[in-house]
Amino acid sequence: MMPNSSFPQPVSGMVMPRFGEVPSFMRLPVERDPRKLDIALVGVPFDGGTTNRPGARHGPREIRNMSTLMRRVHHVSKVAPYELCRVGDHGDVPVNPIDLHDSLARIEDVFARLHAAGAAPLAAGGDHLITLPILRAIAKDRPVGLVHFDAHSDTGDTYFGGEKYTHGTPFRRAIEEGLVDPHRMIQIGIRGSIYAPDEKDWAESVGIRIVHIEEFFELGPAGVVAEARRIVGDGPTYVSFDVDGLDPVYAPGTGTPEIGGYSTAEAQQMLRGLAGLDLVGADVVEVSPPFDPSGNTALVGATMMFELLCVLAPAVARRKTRVEAAQPVAAK
Ligand code: MN
Ligand code: MN
Repeated sequence: MMPNSSFPQPVSGMVMPRFGEVPSFMRLPVERDPRKLDIALVGVPFDGGTTNRPGARHGPREIRNMSTLMRRVHHVSKVAPYELCRVGDHGDVPVNPIDLHDSLARIEDVFARLHAAGAAPLAAGGDHLITLPILRAIAKDRPVGLVHFDAHSDTGDTYFGGEKYTHGTPFRRAIEEGLVDPHRMIQIGIRGSIYAPDEKDWAESVGIRIVHIEEFFELGPAGVVAEARRIVGDGPTYVSFDVDGLDPVYAPGTGTPEIGGYSTAEAQQMLRGLAGLDLVGADVVEVSPPFDPSGNTALVGATMMFELLCVLAPAVARRKTRVEAAQPVAAK
């Protein structure tokens, strides 16, 4: 399939070799104007919410570099996202690395502008706290469902004697703020030693469906996908992909690795299984390049972003078609 639309296209590897040119996300044009985008690929180089090993601030740069390996068309679904939507690299959020709350406000501001312009976000973190200001930007008017891939529940209350905003707490805050419907939320891959036996009680008490890794291996990727689809239903749904949900043999470049996770191939199967849902945005977080000089974790991050793009773009295109069909002829 050759590019045949008027939408922006990636720089072709047939024209400029992949090792050449400025390494934007997926080799797409950099587009700072939200009105010119249906889907914005955004870097959030912030790891100020990290409680242990940092480095995810370097994620977007390295993911961009490895994303130059991505081509145009998904090899299974044959989805060509750049034929369906106007997709561009929207640059990085100008975070303030020495002020957490200022950074949260700056992140929310960028994503709120995108949301107001009708552009769906696909973000590259950054630590997992970045998902909170993204949800504040896109879910104020109604709570979203959430498919959450992670080794950790990230529903802690506070750290260090009262700190409420860390990468271990974003989903408790998001639920408290009414941004996520906990009855439409599923966590996949949860494992690892915990601080206390009742650590997951709050998450379960508010209705989150937790698929621990042991259940994942019982059900398999297809069974877990079926459960995720049942939980989120046909309402608006966000996908948050923490790379530490993967086994660290596949993604060692992350701050809080937990052995015994799913493989990259299993994660790809699950992401493909989200096709047809009403997806409103997604992120890939916790890629910490300093822990993986091989670059493979950044390649994993870039590839998961492409997988997400290939289920997000059809959803965005379906909504656009519905909106256009609902408009009176004179307004077209
Ligand atoms: Mn996480
Ligand atoms: Mn995690």
